Amino acid sequence: MVGGVDEVIAPEHYEYLLFGTKLCATCGTPLPANSDFFVVDKWRGRCALKSECRACKAQKSKAGYLRRKDQERESRADKEP
Ligand SMILES: [Zn+2]
Repeated sequence: MVGGVDEVIAPEHYEYLLFGTKLCATCGTPLPANSDFFVVDKWRGRCALKSECRACKAQKSKAGYLRRKDQERESRADKEP
């Protein structure tokens, strides 16, 4: 084979090669499958990456927090005469 691989791989893409990519189940973005981008789920001594990226996870927990606050407000409003 003449030529071979002469494409230069950028350092930021090394981890794609090393760890592969993983699609976030929520936003569908391909991200490096490592703990920097996905939450690590430790289950029975095994480490697995969550199907959701950290950005989505953060967004969800924030949304959940706001929703809980709303519910608190609503339940308080119900008790008021
Ligand atoms: Zn995501």
